[in-house]
Amino acid sequence: HQQQQGGSREDNIKVVVRSRPLNAAEKAAKTPSLVQCDADRGQVSVSMAIGSKRSSKKYNYDMVFGPYSTQAEVYSSAIRPVVDEVLQGYNCTVFAYGQTGTGKTFTMEGNVDDPELQGMIPRAVDSIFQRLEAIDDAEYTIKVSFLELYNEELQDLLSVTDEKRLRILDDKSRMGTGVSCHNLEEIMVKNTDEIFEVMRTAMAKRATGETKLNKNSSRSHSIFTLTLHIRETTPEGEDLLKVGKLNLVDLAGSECIGRSGAQNARAREAGNINKSLLTLGRVISALVEKTPHIPYRDSKLTRLLQESLGGRAKTCIIATVAPSVQCLDETLSTLEYASRAK
Ligand code: ADP
Ligand code: MG
Repeated sequence: HQQQQGGSREDNIKVVVRSRPLNAAEKAAKTPSLVQCDADRGQVSVSMAIGSKRSSKKYNYDMVFGPYSTQAEVYSSAIRPVVDEVLQGYNCTVFAYGQTGTGKTFTMEGNVDDPELQGMIPRAVDSIFQRLEAIDDAEYTIKVSFLELYNEELQDLLSVTDEKRLRILDDKSRMGTGVSCHNLEEIMVKNTDEIFEVMRTAMAKRATGETKLNKNSSRSHSIFTLTLHIRETTPEGEDLLKVGKLNLVDLAGSECIGRSGAQNARAREAGNINKSLLTLGRVISALVEKTPHIPYRDSKLTRLLQESLGGRAKTCIIATVAPSVQCLDETLSTLEYASRAK
């Protein structure tokens, strides 16, 4: 089939699935586990019983991580290649997509203070610093921002005051495709510890926001962005400036799309439909199907990420699922969504 410039779409959108283990309560209740992960084949199978009939449904992905996969394995197989691209000066986005309670935040953030349980954000950041330090004669700066999107409203998780309203602006200086977020705090960081400090501040702010404003955290998206400027000297002695960007996105719970889609007015009134999550699905489908119109402008999430989705940008979707029977419907819907993105 046709090869696009800069690689085929198969290269540019990777879809991986991670299943969490049964938790203590599920084990105590002897909940059956319905999800089998075959990492070698990149296959997930879900066993189902309809009446007395047993069957299983199989899905294939670029990679599959079972319940005993470690954070280090997920990082080195799925995320390290993305970080390589960022260091080459490209924009990339990693999404965690899945039902609430299946491990999106565990995968993206994990436990920052435990080296084994650190998630993709601390690992990516750490590896970027290490790799840059290893390059001779490279001058670089790293800036980070962290924001939350709730009900199509943006909140800066890094600013100390909330006096400034965040606004998304088209940035005409960047040839029409640029989008910038006005008033967003970008913090210059010099090492991994400074980033961890920034992350702790952001988590604390998010937690207070939830309590004070009575937010349902499963409905919010959080977007961590690292922007990298590297000035290198080529062997010929020329200056080379590269700008790379890495977005790490912990999406709202996939149950927020609502089972019956956008048509269902009642679900929409109940706030079960999350515009950004729904639009993201449409943007990804449009990219996969190569339709000429990509509906980036239909939601804040896709507008913010416009420069890092499609074109030369690499995208990795980590779809998270739970193995238990109670989650079956959402698990199937996540697996379907993830296979459509492939
Ligand atoms: P989500 O962000 O999708 O709502 P969380 O990341 O908060 O879900 O995970 C829910 C619970 O399951 C947490 O207690 C988390 O520590 C645990 N968990 C999730 N994924 C894993 C995993 N792969 N291994 C061990 N525990 C996990
Ligand atoms: Mg979460």
